[in-house]
Amino acid sequence: MKSIAVFCGSSEGASPVYKECARALGLELAQRGITLIYGGAAVGLMGAVADAVLEADGQVVGVIPHFLKTKEIEHRGLTELIAVESMHERKLKMSELADGFIALPGGPGTMEEFFEIFTWAQLGLHGKPCGLLNVNHYYDPLIALFDRMYGERFMQEKHRAMLLEATTPQAILEQFLRYSAPPVKTYLTEERT
Ligand code: AMP
Repeated sequence: MKSIAVFCGSSEGASPVYKECARALGLELAQRGITLIYGGAAVGLMGAVADAVLEADGQVVGVIPHFLKTKEIEHRGLTELIAVESMHERKLKMSELADGFIALPGGPGTMEEFFEIFTWAQLGLHGKPCGLLNVNHYYDPLIALFDRMYGERFMQEKHRAMLLEATTPQAILEQFLRYSAPPVKTYLTEERT
């Protein structure tokens, strides 16, 4: 695994544990020689994870749309900053560059990015691991919703199993190394027949 995309808040969150976790993830990536792919901003948890990788002499590639360069304050110290035209292009580029995807706590933008990449995995468009770094129980309600999707038959067991989750960077990365993608999507109605 050479590179991992991290989706996370452009804010720091209410508790210092979020930033501590972002920094711990950055350090872990750098120590394992894994390049960080992220949204290219200097603010919030995005800036925190990037700074931690760089301080540990790791590699960071940022992908930022032109119109966000001032709003999200582009990071000036990255190994590489790729400027793109749109949010769609940003997600596509990040998905091409990364071998796996981790969501740290974040807001609607983080969710949007994570859900798109997770649904691409479910459709078999890529076979890369997707995981939630569930620090401070932040993602407990989302994990409960995935369980409900499965329980109410809106999601197959093999796809529910695709959602990796852990409370520490080390644990999520270990799961990524063991991950193998399920066969391409079939539909619940097909399975019943
Ligand atoms: P947030 O979690 O809301 O703080 O946003 C985190 C990151 O997601 C920021 O870099 C946002 O620019 C990005 N983002 C927000 N909305 C979208 C979207 N629709 N598509 C792709 N990225 C987005």
